[in-house]
Amino acid sequence: MMEKNIVEIKKRIDAACQKSGRNPSEVTLIAVSKTKPICVIEEAYDLGLRHFGENKVQELVSKYDILDDKYGDTIKWHQIGHLQRNKVKQVIDKSVLIHSVDSLRLGQKIDEEACKKGLVCDILIQVNIAEEDTKYGVTAQELLPLFMELVKLPHIRVRGLMTIAPYVENSEKNRDYFRKMRQLFIDIKSKNIDNSLSKINYDSSSFNILSMGMTGDYEVAIEEGATMVRVGTGIFGERDYPETNL
Ligand SMILES: *Cc1c(COP(=O)(O)O)cnc(C)c1O
Repeated sequence: MMEKNIVEIKKRIDAACQKSGRNPSEVTLIAVSKTKPICVIEEAYDLGLRHFGENKVQELVSKYDILDDKYGDTIKWHQIGHLQRNKVKQVIDKSVLIHSVDSLRLGQKIDEEACKKGLVCDILIQVNIAEEDTKYGVTAQELLPLFMELVKLPHIRVRGLMTIAPYVENSEKNRDYFRKMRQLFIDIKSKNIDNSLSKINYDSSSFNILSMGMTGDYEVAIEEGATMVRVGTGIFGERDYPETNL
């Protein structure tokens, strides 16, 4: 079952790339394994998946700890859910990318903990592109000011943007949101940020990740420029209990 799902998703990713003149190597599939047990993750790994996304810090850390001996650095964990400041310390050296930074306070905490561990932490800024009350993330207006503050933090590397689009039956309804995300991404990337003015550590070539698209809409997201898609149910089937804290 899972094998069939993965083959199908890869086929669709390729088709979406083809349609939009992109190279499939530009798109990373993140298997969202929240609520799924270790044996299921092992199965996905054996089928060739390497990137896994988790919502909750406790779950990411415990899965990391269990699978670290077996897979080491070949398995990559992504913190995709909302992150509380008091949990930053636990996740910072176990996740390759934190997708959900949406405040300066959180950024400062990550910077502080990364400094203690002698790391530079890769992060994305989460944008609430549809301005839904139920979702975390900054608005389009708040994005640039936050970005300009985050790039001053020496132990953070801002790698791009992330969004969770609204839940829709028809994925076309999210196309405009994905398009807006890509425009925000390009606006920032093309900005001339003068590193000499202050202690800004920003290199536009490493600002190259656009994390958007889930089971219901990853093809449209890819057509509009996603470089990471986060797919859970499409790979693993329905989750046993409903998610919280998007
Ligand atoms: C659960 C989740 C996903 C995956 O959702 P599916 O619809 O199951 O593909 C993607 N991104 C985030 C942030 C999630 O919490």
